[in-house]
Amino acid sequence: MQQFVVQTPPLSHKAVFTADAPAPAVLHITCSSGGNTYMRRDLRLQAGQHDFTVPLSYLPTKYHISIERKEGLPVLLRSYDVQPVLFESNKPISEQDKKFIGFALWMAENMPKLGYKTYQDGNGNCIHYMPKVRDLHTGQIIETPARVDRSTGEIFVSADDLLPATVPMRIFVLLHEYVHYRNQTTNEFECDREAANLYRAQGWPKIEALYALTKFFSKPMADSRFSEIMSLPLAGIEGTTEQERRVIELKNHIERNL
Ligand SMILES: [Zn+2]
Repeated sequence: MQQFVVQTPPLSHKAVFTADAPAPAVLHITCSSGGNTYMRRDLRLQAGQHDFTVPLSYLPTKYHISIERKEGLPVLLRSYDVQPVLFESNKPISEQDKKFIGFALWMAENMPKLGYKTYQDGNGNCIHYMPKVRDLHTGQIIETPARVDRSTGEIFVSADDLLPATVPMRIFVLLHEYVHYRNQTTNEFECDREAANLYRAQGWPKIEALYALTKFFSKPMADSRFSEIMSLPLAGIEGTTEQERRVIELKNHIERNL
C-alpha cells in the first residue's frame, strides 16, 4: 500500500556554510539521493569570508551534498551544516490539494525507479508516466514535460524531460498541470501562480519553481538572462517572449505574496 502523505507542518531544510575565498570564485553545490537531485546551485563568492544559507526542499533521511569549485581559486570551507526548518504557511490548503501534493511528491521522488505505466492514488488523481508525452489521438510526440486532460484530470508525464530535473522542479510541473484541471483554466500565468502557492506552502525553495519555467521551454532561457531578471527589482523589467513574461510574473508573485 503506497502512502501519499504531506507532512504537517511541512518540513524543509537549509544548508548553512562558512567559507573563505582568497579571490572571487564560483561553487557548484548539489544535493542528491537515490538517483534524484534535490538541489543544484551555483554560488558566486567575492573575495573574503562568507556565511551563506541555501534553502532546500524536504530531504530523504539519507542524502549526499557535494561542493565543487567551478571557477576561481580554491575556497576554504570552514563549516557546513544542514538544518531542518519547520515551515509556517499562512495559506490554507484544501484537503483535495493536500492529497495531490502528496501524490506529486511520491511521484517526483520515485521517478528514477518507476516503470512506464499509469499510477493512481486512490483519491481520483492519475498520472501516466511515459518516455515522451504523445497526442492521445494522433500518437505524435508532443515536446512538453507534462500535460493534462482537463476533462478527466489525467496527467501525462515525460520521463525524458523530468528525470534530469530536480525533485522540486518535477513537483512544480505536476502542480502546474493539476491546477489546469482543478481551476478548469487554460491560463498559463494563473497555473504558475497557483502551483507556486501550493508549492511554497510546503516551504520548498522559490528558485526551483522559477527554474521549472526556464528549463522546459523549447528554448531554455540563457543563464545570463535569468540572472538579469532575478537581479532587477519587482516589475523592473519587461518580457519579450511568453517564457520571459511567465518567469517575470512568477518572480513578482512569489516575492510579493510568498
Ligand atoms: Zn500549462
